Amino acid sequence: MSSITDKMKSVAFKSAMKTAISYLDKDPDANAIKVMNLVDKFMPADWYVPQRAAIREAIETKNNWYQVVEKVWDLDPGVRKAFFTNFMVNASLSGSAVQEDEIDKEGCNIPWAILMDPTTACNLHCTGCWAAEYGNRLNLSFEDMDSIVTQGKALGVFMYIFTGGEPLVRKKDIIALCEKHSDCEFLSFTNGTLIDEEFCREMLRVKNFVPALSVEGFETATDGRRGSGTYQKVVHAMKLLKEHRLPFGISTCYTSANYDDVSSEAYFDQMIDWGALFVWYFHYMPVGQGAAPELLPTPEQRTEMYRRIRKYRETKPIFSMDFQNDAEFVGGCIAGGRRYLHINAAGDVEPCVFIHYSNANIHQCTLLEALKSPIFMEYYKGQPFNDNMLRPCPMLENPEFLREMVKKTGAKSTDCEQPEDVDTLCDRTEPYAQRWAPVAEELWKENREEKEQRSGCERCIG
Ligand code: SF4
Repeated sequence: MSSITDKMKSVAFKSAMKTAISYLDKDPDANAIKVMNLVDKFMPADWYVPQRAAIREAIETKNNWYQVVEKVWDLDPGVRKAFFTNFMVNASLSGSAVQEDEIDKEGCNIPWAILMDPTTACNLHCTGCWAAEYGNRLNLSFEDMDSIVTQGKALGVFMYIFTGGEPLVRKKDIIALCEKHSDCEFLSFTNGTLIDEEFCREMLRVKNFVPALSVEGFETATDGRRGSGTYQKVVHAMKLLKEHRLPFGISTCYTSANYDDVSSEAYFDQMIDWGALFVWYFHYMPVGQGAAPELLPTPEQRTEMYRRIRKYRETKPIFSMDFQNDAEFVGGCIAGGRRYLHINAAGDVEPCVFIHYSNANIHQCTLLEALKSPIFMEYYKGQPFNDNMLRPCPMLENPEFLREMVKKTGAKSTDCEQPEDVDTLCDRTEPYAQRWAPVAEELWKENREEKEQRSGCERCIG
């Protein structure tokens, strides 16, 4: 292991990546393949294999992915350079090498990204969301967030993601954090309504902040849930970001009510037209007091999401990821620090943004101690929770695991609104898990057969 990590952390590697970035700045079309050759030369042969193959294919065939890459060339040059340096080099290449070293040394998960809630406050009053009622009661101070990032960097973590509440209620502190940790990439989920001219100028100044705006369908659906006029405010924010040549993406939660709209070709075309570089899809999770199990997609609806997203991924110039149906690309559940963890506004360190049980609070322990806390160690030992990558989650698809982990570790409910007993939560997901299991088995079989067929074809062509 040490030869890999030494290679990735070496001065030669970093200077090769600097050369690569300057190649891209000069003539991306002509130099993209040279950059891939450099990456292949320096990166261990078994790292990011499918991703590297997809990028190489995009460059060589100039497919829809290449159009996404071209949009990246159109970004503000300073922002683009910060993205390549912070996201590609610091977070994903040399950062991953440090993380692997730490995993070996410490015997626990070390994440690639840390999610944190700067605040529980929000400026909107969306149906089903507790944030507005809960108000401004809980906040991580600037010093708390600074300490989390400083501790994270020592473990090789250079990717930070804000959730909430509405993170941009704290935009001054967020910008100050971006400025202080200019070697990290910061991303924020946001309702988008607080993005204005001034904030775009601040983003251009610090260069390392990327928003993911929440959109859950077309205008009627969005305004119905979030309040009249919200959709147009979000569209306006995207227009501003595009005008300033700033990168942004979209985050969409799919439910039984909106799955058809948000997986339609019209929705994909709309997001591309707005200028989004990526869309992250989240399956609705029936967590907490306001849970609405009737919003859980049926097996047929989830299958439809699976098929449509994969279809448009091959044809549309936008990077799409469905966190529940794409676990095969990351080896199953990524929580518990395996790829990420979540710190709520009270400082509780939770395995996942949807799993509100914890034995550790950042005000009382270090980040590394939290990663070694009992429930995190159960994740470390238990992952993956299922060999079928269409059933990755210990709460949604394998609730017996969450029940057991919480009871065994004595992890406390950290739900900011009202504590929730793990049996209450898992009794809610159990029927869903049972309905989904046989469909997921068939779909996974189909997935494996297709993959086998593709690799057979590649071998023949090769
Ligand atoms: S705990 Fe469930 S929702 Fe969270 S990352 Fe793992 S699979 Fe996804």
